[in-house]
Parts: sequence; C-alpha cells; structure tokens
Amino acid sequence: MSILIKKAYILDMVGKEPNIKIGDIFIRNNIIEKISENIVCDADDVIDATGNLIMPGLVNTHTHLPMSIFKGYKDDRSLMDWLNNSIFPVEAKLESDDFYFNSCLSILEMIKSGTTTCNDMYFGTEKIIEAIEKIGIRANVSWCITDDSINDKIEKTREYFKKYNVADSRIKVLVSFHAPYTCNPKTIELCVNLAKELNTYIHVHLAETLDEENIIKEGYGKSPTEYLNDLNVFDVKTILAHGIYLSEKDIDILKNKDIGISHNPISNCKLSSGICDVTKLHKNNIKVGIGTDGSGSTTTLDMFEEMKCTAYLQKVNTLNPVAIKAYDVLKMATIEGAKVLGLDKEIGTIEIGKKADLIILDLNKTHLFPLNDIVTNIVYSANGADVRTVIIDGNIIMKDRKIYSIDEQELYKKVDNICKRLL
Ligand SMILES: [Zn+2]
Repeated sequence: MSILIKKAYILDMVGKEPNIKIGDIFIRNNIIEKISENIVCDADDVIDATGNLIMPGLVNTHTHLPMSIFKGYKDDRSLMDWLNNSIFPVEAKLESDDFYFNSCLSILEMIKSGTTTCNDMYFGTEKIIEAIEKIGIRANVSWCITDDSINDKIEKTREYFKKYNVADSRIKVLVSFHAPYTCNPKTIELCVNLAKELNTYIHVHLAETLDEENIIKEGYGKSPTEYLNDLNVFDVKTILAHGIYLSEKDIDILKNKDIGISHNPISNCKLSSGICDVTKLHKNNIKVGIGTDGSGSTTTLDMFEEMKCTAYLQKVNTLNPVAIKAYDVLKMATIEGAKVLGLDKEIGTIEIGKKADLIILDLNKTHLFPLNDIVTNIVYSANGADVRTVIIDGNIIMKDRKIYSIDEQELYKKVDNICKRLL
C-alpha cells in the first residue's frame, strides 16, 4: 500500500516556529518515506492536494468514547449533580452493544474533524476496541477502575494489555482509575501496582473542581495531588485530565515527575469547573496536551473548537494577549499531545520515518480567506468540517469527507434507538 500526496502546503510541526512549504509526501505502508518538492513515483493512491494544507493528525488526550449519547442530555448542571443524578444512573443501564455503537459515533465525529489519535477511559473496553478496530483510529484505551468489582477489572486490563500492547499496534492499553474522590486508597494502590507490573501509563482525572479539592481535603487533610503523590501514583508515568486546582506545592510535586496533563477547556467551561493555568504549567516544563473529555460535558469532539478555547482562556485568564501563541496551541494539539501519551517518537509531526497519521485541510473556504497566516487561520478560524481527508497508520480512513468503513446512516439509527431506550 502506498500513497502519494501532491502539491500541498506542508506544515510539519517540527520546529519551534512554523515551517510551511509546498511539496509532496510519499507514504509506504504506514510510514512517511519521502518529503520533497516534487516526487515522481508510482503509488496505489495519488491525492492532488493543490491549495490544501497537510499537517499531523490531531491528538485528543482525554475522551470517553461511549458517552456520545449524552450530547445535549441534561446540560447546564454542575459536575457532581450532573454525574450523580444524570450520568451514572444511565451508565449503569448500558448494554454490551451500546458501548460499540456509541463509540463508533464518537470516533466518526473525531475523524471527520481531524483527530487521528485519542486517549480513552471508560468501561466496556472490549466493545470500545471493536469500534476502534472497525473505523481505524489510533487509540489508547483503559478500563476506568472504581471500587466495585476491582479484581475483575484488573484482570481484564491485564488480559487486554497482553493482547494489544504488541509491536506496531495502533491500540495501546493503559491502567486508569476514575478520580481521587471516587476510588479508595486500596483501589488506587492496586492500580499503581498493576501499572508498574505492566510498565504502562496511568490515566486519571485530577484537580478538576473545587468540590473534589474540598472532598479530599476533608477526608485526608491534603490536596488531591498530594494525596495521589503519597499513594505513589506519580512513581508511574501518568496522564492527568484537567489539572485546574494545582497549588505551587502541587506543581513542585508534578514538575519532577513523568506526568503530562490533558487540558479540556470546553468541558471545564461548560461545567464551570475553572481554568487550567497552561502558561504556568509550560513555565514549569510540564507537558500539556488538549482533550475534549466526553460528549456529555463538551458536546462536540471537534479539536479545532478546543484549540480556540485553549487560546482564548489563557489570554483572558492572564489578561495578556501574548500569553500563548496560535502555534503553541497547535503544538499542544499535535506533538505535545503525542508527548503526553508517550507516542511522540511515532506521531505528532510530519517527518521521514514517522507513522503516517496525517490530515488534509481544504483551505479554499470563505472563513479561511485570505491566507495571511495559515497557522493563526487554523487555530482561530478553521473548524472540523474543513478537514477533507484523513490518513491513519498509512490507511486512508476518510477521503473527500467520505468514510468507507461504516454506514453512517445505519449507525445513526442504532444510536437513536439506544437514546430512545435509555434517555
Ligand atoms: Zn473525563
């Protein structure tokens, strides 16, 4: 299998400053083999990308794939009210196939808006993996462990890890527990031991709301970050979702550990959770990627919307228009996100030898014209519908906005029936 992409603006996301040139890219199997001004060779697929931009696929560092049915369901509530009274009771009724169809819908939306990698945390993992394999996204998955049936979940995580964490696999299995306020210390300790045994990452929600901070302070007399540190969580490579309520002491703990943070700006805004101080994290050399969170709390899984929100929140939070630049935000959504997930040697930039996870954007749009600055146009003006073609692991998953691996209308019917039954 080979693909030749001709005459595109290429934004490689390699340097500290943007580097855009017009040229060709040749992909053989799943690897970028050549990048040059003019490549002449045979290929199974030739894509004329004249007037289009090719860039690395977007990396969504925090998702809950089966939550697609919660889009628009019980909006405008606080996190604890929303979770306890609206989400958890419905999640308890999800049936096996629901996980598959709901995940397919999320993956479809992500691919149509240029996301090529996601980092998921949920339950019903077997069916989530089935959806990932069906449509063809790159994904980290983890069974979100809470205090009930813990031995069963640990055994399942171990089983999936052995099956999927093999060379060249698009799917990686991590260990996750939900949050400091939903897991007791014994559960957290078992998760840390499992992550050490498997030498994999832990994925966990941390420092998302003031309520969480108060619950842990009342229960243990310390911040959620100090609490997890005392339970040796950060002895393991860790992906922390949110990171809003971090004191100087918390940042001192985290900056010396192998951790990365998923900033989920729209979810944080919608639930009024607070603002993650990305600029402060960057000053302390803490890796930060961008995530959407689940469809319930973010509504759209379009990473272009998240990029805009990331830029605006940092500017207004610091009252400083140069607090973060568009290119820094674009890096968070590509190579920095890949670093948070430990995948930066494989994806996140366009370089010879890297995996071919690429998106092609149609720049011939009214809202993107004129092209005075392509990078700022992408962050401040573009949206997911501008993505024309998506290549993941060397496979064309979407071409000219058509996805061939699944019947979209059939999927909508299935998900509609699930909503009618559960909501
Ligand atoms: Zn989440």
